[in-house]
Amino acid sequence: KRGNVERTLIAVKPDGVQRRLVGQIMQRFEQRGFKLVGLKMLQVSDDLLSQHYCELRTKPFYPRLLHYMTSGPVVAMVWEGHKVVQTSRTMVGHTNPAEAQAGTVRGDFSFHVSRNVVHASDSLEGAQREIQLWFQRKELLNWDCCDQTITCEWVNLNI
Ligand code: GDP
Ligand code: MG
Repeated sequence: KRGNVERTLIAVKPDGVQRRLVGQIMQRFEQRGFKLVGLKMLQVSDDLLSQHYCELRTKPFYPRLLHYMTSGPVVAMVWEGHKVVQTSRTMVGHTNPAEAQAGTVRGDFSFHVSRNVVHASDSLEGAQREIQLWFQRKELLNWDCCDQTITCEWVNLNI
């Protein structure tokens, strides 16, 4: 994290991968102007999930959530940009797709909370915790976008 530039964890869940939605979901983050700094496909372990969803372990749906999230591969990404945590929550939409606005990922591609296609970190602290959990430091790349004078530099001008 440089200055006020944030990073967040976005993951296409197993239903999103199975339904071939990875490209469309990534496209939304690219076209919004965010920078991809980490990307991998993985079969998530129970151990990673229990840490990732530690706050939910007492919920009645927790066993179903673990089964869902381990039912196939996940595509995990780290996106960087100004206020990317809050903005990506808006782009992803309400946890319950029945309440998610059209135009959001969940509002456009899903209808039930148990198969809501995508994960997005919900706070700056949560994002930092999750990124450390899912990615090794060396898997996160610092690189310069050719358009960063437009998409990034103005952030430092206090406008
Ligand atoms: P998120 O941050 O919007 O993903 O929502 P939460 O952190 O509250 O919940 C994590 C994930 O658990 C959600 O994205 C859903 O996949 C799942 N989940 C949440 N509530 C329910 C529920 O009532 N039933 C089921 N089956 N899954 C749920
Ligand atoms: Mg959450």
